[in-house]
Amino acid sequence: MTIFEEVKELVDVPTAACHYGVEVHHGNMAICPFHHERTPSCKLYERNYHCFGCGAHGDVIRLVQELFGLTPMEAVKQINSDFSLGLDARRPPDRADTLLIQRKKQERKAYAKWEHHAFEVLKDYVWTIRDWGRQYAPSRPEESQDARFVYALHYAGYAEYIANEFMLADKEERLSMKEDIERIEKEIKELAGESHRGIN
Ligand SMILES: [Zn+2]
Repeated sequence: MTIFEEVKELVDVPTAACHYGVEVHHGNMAICPFHHERTPSCKLYERNYHCFGCGAHGDVIRLVQELFGLTPMEAVKQINSDFSLGLDARRPPDRADTLLIQRKKQERKAYAKWEHHAFEVLKDYVWTIRDWGRQYAPSRPEESQDARFVYALHYAGYAEYIANEFMLADKEERLSMKEDIERIEKEIKELAGESHRGIN
């Protein structure tokens, strides 16, 4: 694999586009950075982009070249450094590099999958707690309190806090919240699945 191929393997077009400030909308449709438009007509695929408005087309290296006015090699170096890929442009890659590249790619995929899951868990957490706070509130003062209501009461602030923290955090910080997110997921599952009356 050449360093050009390696870069294309490691960094997909939507990831790079987001990183460099291209406005990406639903379905990986982006506001084209190469012509003036208000509604997105530049489709981002994993390995390529294509603008239905102006016809701009290329891979991740071309994207970075065009965005910053670079040569292909300069674009490769830019991506290598911005995404901390650790590729060495001077040395021809050997089999060990290829394996390392594959491992890095798998790690990136695994992380992306977990990150997506964690976002879902935290989003659910906030909404579930809001629901529980309303839905299971005792209608009369003498009524015993539902465990879900009690939980909602205790954790409403925390839920908003941790969801917000996660949103603002970088990769390392997000990973450091993994145990909390697993615990939250378990607590919510357990509470949602049990019978709850009788806590007073
Ligand atoms: Zn365009």
